Amino acid sequence: MRYRIVPVTRFRQNCSLLWCPDSLRAAVVDPGGDLELIQAAIAEEGVAVEKILVTHGHADHSGGAAELSECLGVPIEGPHPDDGFLIDGMAKQAARTGLTGARGFTPDRWLDEGETVEIGPLILSVLHCPGHTPGHIVFHHPASKLAVVGDVLFRGSIGRCDGPKGDHMQLVNAIRGKLWPLGNDTEFIPGHGDMSTFAWERAANAYVCDFVEY
Ligand SMILES: [Zn+2]
Ligand SMILES: [Zn+2]
Repeated sequence: MRYRIVPVTRFRQNCSLLWCPDSLRAAVVDPGGDLELIQAAIAEEGVAVEKILVTHGHADHSGGAAELSECLGVPIEGPHPDDGFLIDGMAKQAARTGLTGARGFTPDRWLDEGETVEIGPLILSVLHCPGHTPGHIVFHHPASKLAVVGDVLFRGSIGRCDGPKGDHMQLVNAIRGKLWPLGNDTEFIPGHGDMSTFAWERAANAYVCDFVEY
């Protein structure tokens, strides 16, 4: 699987374009806004987007999903239904964050732990990792040893848990219980900032490294 990161919105959210190098079929993960940047990346790579994937319901990640879905004529898959209240409240989020173009939507498919999503011939697994938001999901492509984790985990940090229905221990348990078993050599695209590996985080991340006990 190939990928290209397109930082969008004033939060520099890592929207990512994922595609199969053979079929050039692609998905856009977390189109939070700045759709012209996303459309330019799609055109430059020459890929055919067949769906939009959403990790969670925060506006900087999913506020542009409705418009991009309409522009491209493709369905939206994800997040987990427990983030429905955030998507329904998109107008409120937009006002609070200044992301004025953010719009709510109803996903064509909600996702849950253990399900899979397809990008052409590629199959990605879905992990439900609540804590930052209750319905946050992570996409994992085992063959590429790559995960797209949204705001669950960052290089050297983890997602905030002070929002509605946030839960710090739930997030720590999801990271350790669901992400670490994917393998130390797994690379991840976080929702913000630089990429990293699970090995590096287990050694050096002050919130979830192997030496921290709760
Ligand atoms: Zn978030
Ligand atoms: Zn975010």
